[in-house]
Amino acid sequence: MTPAHRSTTHPVGIGGVTVGGGAPVVVQSMANTDTADAAATARQCLELARAGSELVRITVNLDQAAAAVPEIRRRLDDAGCAVPLVGDFHYNGHQLLARYPACADALAKYRINPGNVGYGARRDEQFSTICRIARDRGKPVRIGVNAGSLDQELVMAKMQENTDRDLGRSSEEILGDCMVLSALHSTEAALAAGLTIHDVVISCKVSRPPELIAVYRELARRTRQPLHLGLTEAGLGLRGLTWSATALGVLLAEGIGDTIRVSLTPRPGGDRREEVYAACEILQSLGLRAFAPSVTACPGCGRTTSTTFQELAERVEAHLKARMPEWRERYRGVEELKVAVMGCVVNGPGESKAADIGISLPGTGEAPTCPVYVDGERFATFSGNYEELAARFLALVEDYVAHRYPPRDDSPTPEPVKEARRH
Ligand code: SF4
Repeated sequence: MTPAHRSTTHPVGIGGVTVGGGAPVVVQSMANTDTADAAATARQCLELARAGSELVRITVNLDQAAAAVPEIRRRLDDAGCAVPLVGDFHYNGHQLLARYPACADALAKYRINPGNVGYGARRDEQFSTICRIARDRGKPVRIGVNAGSLDQELVMAKMQENTDRDLGRSSEEILGDCMVLSALHSTEAALAAGLTIHDVVISCKVSRPPELIAVYRELARRTRQPLHLGLTEAGLGLRGLTWSATALGVLLAEGIGDTIRVSLTPRPGGDRREEVYAACEILQSLGLRAFAPSVTACPGCGRTTSTTFQELAERVEAHLKARMPEWRERYRGVEELKVAVMGCVVNGPGESKAADIGISLPGTGEAPTCPVYVDGERFATFSGNYEELAARFLALVEDYVAHRYPPRDDSPTPEPVKEARRH
């Protein structure tokens, strides 16, 4: 294990975004539209970027898809969105990139899966072709090894070696060894084809957290190339979220991982942006990035006899989310805002004081009043029904943001809220 791995990886520039070299961990996502449909793909890429995705990957599998990539880039540029596009190639990447130079130019990075490049001598030749195109256009690549498409010749050789030499490795360990070896061999091949250490990102994705953690710890020990983290086929809903957060959280907390993707399986018609929100939350939970204000809310217990505080917490959360696009444009540092909505006197005042703005609602048997704290000090006491409480508290949040965070145009900071608005 290498705790400082993230700060010692080689920086790789991807269309203006730096991955590695101690840069902030980058959030990325992947579109699930048909790339040949340039309008739909550009629309989804825009949504993903606006949700916080700093790199967006798109499938480039067919001639029609490769032909559509420049149009997707143009539509994003026209919308004022500079998010770098990453092309995901399997089997025919060497042909598509050669046949569609405008596609090769429009993409900021090429993802190559060494298990899906070809077989035998053709594999090496086709892998080198992609790397040379990347080199000639000044594009980096990601060597993206997947457990599900691992080079079977390598796996068979390692299984045989395990038997012949009685090494006692489990099949999971052998697969993990093979993934790391495949990534490292492919990195050497990419460097031999003319790419530099500042052009190669590595990933080795598996679908179970323990194996993912083991593989990335080994990668961190053996390479200085930046690492793209992600649990592949994480699954649907709660399971996908939990398993991804568990695996990525362990590694990120150890200083491993320069960019992340949370591979959630969306429900039919579901919101693709959920994988971006999840990635942002994972990074923010570890204090590695700040993307949006956070709401601290207690889980509630037998001391709460109404759902008022849960409803208020939900409403505050929704309000912050709705206001962030404008706030982000207008106020510097607003993503650091911390709000607390708590259910009773046990932890309410403490958590409220620890937040920038907090409200402690009354639990069972408490007086029907709500102490409100701003910047750690008692600021006011609210009372009234839910609607009145919500309106007053959200007005206070608006007021706090407008006075606490300096405008982006660097005009003078307004008077602090606690001096200007205390009552
Ligand atoms: S703050 Fe009060 S209501 Fe909330 S979980 Fe703790 S004891 Fe229960």
